[in-house]
Amino acid sequence: TIRTRFAPSPTGYLHVGGARTALFSWLYARRHGGTFVLRIEDTDIERSTEEAVNAILEGMTWLGLEYEEGPFYQTHRFERYNEVIDELLESGHAYRCNCTKERLDELRATAEKQGGMRGYDGHCRDKFVDPAKPHVVRFRNPETGVVMFDDQVHGKVAVNNEELDDLIIRRTDGAPTYNLTVVVDDYDMGITHVIRGDDHKRNASRQINIFKALGWKIPHYAHVALIMGDDGAKLSKRHGAVSVMQYKEDGFLPEALLNYLVRLGWSHGDQEIFSVDELTQLFDIEDVNKAASTFNTEKLLWLNQHYIKSSDPAHLAHLLSYHMGNLGIDPSQGPDLIEVVKAQQERARTLVEMAEISAFFYRDFESFDEDAAKKNLRPVAREPLEKMRAALESQDDWSPEALHQLVMDVSESLELKMGKVAQPLRVAVVGRAASPGIDVTLQLVGKAACLRRIDMALD
Ligand code: GLU
Repeated sequence: TIRTRFAPSPTGYLHVGGARTALFSWLYARRHGGTFVLRIEDTDIERSTEEAVNAILEGMTWLGLEYEEGPFYQTHRFERYNEVIDELLESGHAYRCNCTKERLDELRATAEKQGGMRGYDGHCRDKFVDPAKPHVVRFRNPETGVVMFDDQVHGKVAVNNEELDDLIIRRTDGAPTYNLTVVVDDYDMGITHVIRGDDHKRNASRQINIFKALGWKIPHYAHVALIMGDDGAKLSKRHGAVSVMQYKEDGFLPEALLNYLVRLGWSHGDQEIFSVDELTQLFDIEDVNKAASTFNTEKLLWLNQHYIKSSDPAHLAHLLSYHMGNLGIDPSQGPDLIEVVKAQQERARTLVEMAEISAFFYRDFESFDEDAAKKNLRPVAREPLEKMRAALESQDDWSPEALHQLVMDVSESLELKMGKVAQPLRVAVVGRAASPGIDVTLQLVGKAACLRRIDMALD
């Protein structure tokens, strides 16, 4: 069966690029009834933080990327890595090296002068190095031949062993390094398909050599192109939000971000909208594009609006209550948030916008929007507002139908078009010129607040 993994290094927030490779791995496992594993690659103790681990877990939970196994932590597995390193030393696939820093610096300088890529020259390959004295362990990379693999995104990849030097697999302080730990983990965790960023394509050939030295079965690889900003540079903070949780803060729905991310590099005809169920039927890693894709915030906003319009109101209300809270509003103190959502669903591109245009349902505003007030309140609307206030005060039936009728009746009695009454009334009750229909607006704001705010407008 298929087993995939996501293996982030916990050195910061969950980046949208990382989230996308996690999504691809998750979908691939789902599609094939497989298992998705989460592995935290925290061997870089200086840069790894618990805060970053939590940010990754939180981001994955928010996106709904559930893992069947893990999280596993590499720092808990040093004993196992050392066991494998010892095995490699024993079989001659690794050796101890005590080259001085000066020697290595010199080597690097000469290589640079000659324009060569190859790093370490193999000086200690066949030398005796005292295990009791400080040393590193290097992998004995084959000197000739070609490493080949069939990348599920890129097709055939071939790298000459001549280009690969003898990599350090254990540092002087005893810490195993990335290329070794990844191989041991992918093997021990039974990973069948490694899906990750393009930036690891070169590492794959190094890792394959280690797999071969250990006589272990090599997994399939798929290296996914990076995400670019609109200027063609690798997506970073200066292009806007790159952290998954920032998108939550900015009022995006997890399903919209998920839908957006899967379409960055993957397509199915010209279909744009995919439910998770559909994706688990349709997604295939072989259909992922080789070329880098560009992040397009407008398109994400478009998708977000689509999901806001088409989501179940109860579900949206649940998500929206978080953003109401950010505005200091407790939605249990006021109209049913689900009814508010139904009234606003067509009117916002993000949940932050929806919260902002819904605050007036829950609390009085400090002042009227100036433009709206100038146009609709002063001085023309005195009479309609006074009439409306009186009518509302004696109104018992507070259903939208009855309220609609009431506004119509008042307009007729004043021989005004309905808008000439409804709009001043709206500005008085809402504080600005836009809101859902006047009937629903009045209903949800409630009688007491309506009268109070009309008084404020007449003041
Ligand atoms: N920990 C690595 C990273 O965050 C990923 C390793 C891998 O997927 O093989 O870049």
